[in-house]
Amino acid sequence: MAQWLSAERWLMGTEVKVELLAEGREDGPKVLEDALAVMQDVDWMMNPLNPDSAIYQVNQDAATQPVVVPAAMFQVVERALYYSRLSEGAFDISFGAVGRLYDYRAGNAPSDADLAASLPGVSYRDIHTDAAAGSISFSRPGMYIDLGGIAKGFAVDQAIEVLQRAGITSGFASAGGDSRILGSHGDRPRMIGIRHPRKDGEFAVMIPLSDTAISTSGDYERFFVDGELRFHHILDPGTGRSVNGVQSVSILTTLAVDSDALSTTVFVLGVRRGLALVDSLPAADAIIIDDKGQLHYSQGLLRKSSAR
Ligand code: ADP
Ligand code: MG
Repeated sequence: MAQWLSAERWLMGTEVKVELLAEGREDGPKVLEDALAVMQDVDWMMNPLNPDSAIYQVNQDAATQPVVVPAAMFQVVERALYYSRLSEGAFDISFGAVGRLYDYRAGNAPSDADLAASLPGVSYRDIHTDAAAGSISFSRPGMYIDLGGIAKGFAVDQAIEVLQRAGITSGFASAGGDSRILGSHGDRPRMIGIRHPRKDGEFAVMIPLSDTAISTSGDYERFFVDGELRFHHILDPGTGRSVNGVQSVSILTTLAVDSDALSTTVFVLGVRRGLALVDSLPAADAIIIDDKGQLHYSQGLLRKSSAR
């Protein structure tokens, strides 16, 4: 008998969810609990506002001396730096030096002068990892890393690993806009909706997916509007201001750590450069909604739809 179990929790500033097909096994609830627990560990380790977290230590001390971090965090920072190099800095976890100047809830954006003073701290080339020591250091003062563009995807992968280790073959994990489907939804793919960026509660696209991660970055998640200007949480590391040109980017690939980082990366790069990057990666696909509400697909998706 198909018996789906699910559990939810509020983590990393968003709704986190894990589901599995129990198929008669008794330990389903325990497996769900274990999966949520590893996501909670990621949140604990990678929340820059938590004074007991590894990332807090890094931001505090890494400009003075190398800081040894847990293996999971080291791995995430290395992956983030890979996407920084791949995108020539469109994705940059040190965006936090300017990111921390915004308060979206209060509707506050930094002045040009404050931005100019903090922008030199946005510099992924000044983040150094030492694999032998498992440490991170900064080669400039005024730096502040924030893993908000990649940690949720990593947490989703960790949860899926817990399900896999327990022998689950159909499952699902999500953290806000980052999801991964393990197997399928019983005997058919799972239908995943991409939210309409301007119509609350509506979907712009529905796609059937199995064994795939999908992440969406949108300008509607955390934002405020001031006159004509829309301030949202995806920042151009070159200027420290919100990126225009795109309303939402969805990335499909194998691991959620990659779909998460890439959705933010492609958002910053925009339609043309973003699609060029995705088309250069064999395992990734993209669905982009531009600032006029127009849909754009990567070559891989265009090929699949014409083959049907
Ligand atoms: P969310 O799931 O929170 O909507 P996204 O994947 O859309 O996250 O990424 C947005 C988050 O990424 C921001 O909240 C911020 O923490 C981080 N971020 C913003 N701009 C950049 C950037 N240029 N490079 C890396 N991370 C960024
Ligand atoms: Mg992302």
